[in-house]
Amino acid sequence: MSIKLGTNDLAKYPFLNEASLYIKDTHFDLLEFDRSEMSFIINRSFEKIESFIKNNETRHYYKIDKFEIEILTFLASLLILKSASIDIITKKFALFESMRFEKYLIDDLKNSFKDETKRLILLKIFKEVFKIDVYAETKTIELYKIRVPEYIRRSILFHEQEWKLINRTVKDGYVYLDVSEIVRLFRNELSLLIIDKIKNMKSITFPKQVLIKSQKLKNYWDSVNKKTDVDIVNKKSVTPPCIDHLYRVLDTGENLPHSARLLLATFLLFSGKSIEEITEMFKKLPDFNERITRYQLEHLSGKTGSSKKYFVPSCEKIKMENLCHETNVCKGIINPVQLLGKRMKI
Ligand code: SF4
Repeated sequence: MSIKLGTNDLAKYPFLNEASLYIKDTHFDLLEFDRSEMSFIINRSFEKIESFIKNNETRHYYKIDKFEIEILTFLASLLILKSASIDIITKKFALFESMRFEKYLIDDLKNSFKDETKRLILLKIFKEVFKIDVYAETKTIELYKIRVPEYIRRSILFHEQEWKLINRTVKDGYVYLDVSEIVRLFRNELSLLIIDKIKNMKSITFPKQVLIKSQKLKNYWDSVNKKTDVDIVNKKSVTPPCIDHLYRVLDTGENLPHSARLLLATFLLFSGKSIEEITEMFKKLPDFNERITRYQLEHLSGKTGSSKKYFVPSCEKIKMENLCHETNVCKGIINPVQLLGKRMKI
């Protein structure tokens, strides 16, 4: 049976091939974004990027407009990001945009139990976007299943216990997941799909309005980087390789798992960095949330909670968490902070 997406689906999921076909079929020329009636779309796209980047905020953008507006807003956002070419901002936008799509998918899946066509449309989205067969479990409402290897390939990126295969319901070669879990499992892929869309845009003559907005974005980023260019620990110090690796990951705008954040935060606190300085650094994380970050740092530093100050994890523990990047400088040490001591003696 051929399943056709409705315009409402295209408005919610403008990353789908059907949305690109719509642009193609209407013979829309990118330079049309310079027409005065298009300034609304350009501004809307820029405000959305700004809100994701500055406020880590998606909720203002849950309300869906007409599908033509949503598709063009998505396209204009990609153009602005392509023109600005700032990796961290692109990754952050992709993560927040995928979280927004995630919300629609969860709502739609939850509402699709009595509507077989709707359900088929959503499963088609999984097939088209993630190249995977997701099956609805007929006997138990609200449950979906995917093949075990497909599950392992994706869940390996999650560090929380609940994602370990041993903690899942597995039957006849399938892993069972509820609606939120099945959607969450694909967040990384959706985010990568958006990044790829931006990277794969080729030979573009950017509309003037797009160039103006991307320049604004670059200016903002330059000003932020002046502030956040923290000379992490003293330049002359021996930075533990595990910590050095985390700095590099942070600089590329990749996300860090909870265990890595804990290691970095405790190490920086031990090195004498203030909560303020560490919060600035963590702003590079795609899912940065200032309130939560401050709360966690205050907790780790013993300023809140039980007043217990958390110490930097041992090398043994760091190794167990696959965060160790041992080199010769680590010889004979049992905790990364010993390298700071080493520096002081030099
Ligand atoms: S041996 Fe210790 S200090 Fe060195 S990289 Fe591994 S965890 Fe870090």
